[in-house]
Amino acid sequence: MSSYEGSCHCGETQWTVKLNEDQAKHILCHCMTCQSLSGGAYTLNQIVPKDAISFSKGGNSLKSYTYKGDSGKDVHCYYCPNCTTHPYHNQTANEGNIVVRTGLLKKAHSIEPAAEIFGKDRFSFQKETAHTFEVLPPQ
Ligand SMILES: [Zn+2]
Ligand SMILES: [Zn+2]
Repeated sequence: MSSYEGSCHCGETQWTVKLNEDQAKHILCHCMTCQSLSGGAYTLNQIVPKDAISFSKGGNSLKSYTYKGDSGKDVHCYYCPNCTTHPYHNQTANEGNIVVRTGLLKKAHSIEPAAEIFGKDRFSFQKETAHTFEVLPPQ
């Protein structure tokens, strides 16, 4: 288990995520929600237990945005109220876990990709870097 520090763009929100060896990998998500929320081709994520994230700054000031996920249940995205960086979200369909944005961790550049999801929505110029699932992996 290692600790990874993260920060939003403006610095008002700072956090630490605990990741075990299997979790210290990026999962690339090419879904159209990620494309819309990030303005990029995909996002970098990992699923961790709720208590794996702790905020050293700004944790009580986070705002949330809620939308309906593919499950038909709510997804709550938490973001810095000043700069809109989105450290994590949680799905009411998967209450005990959260999805952290691994691309925001300070060591993100040296973390390897483990898998890609929602490959069906991949931008045409984007090359595969890890095993790709068309939507989600089988449960
Ligand atoms: Zn911020
Ligand atoms: Zn996505």
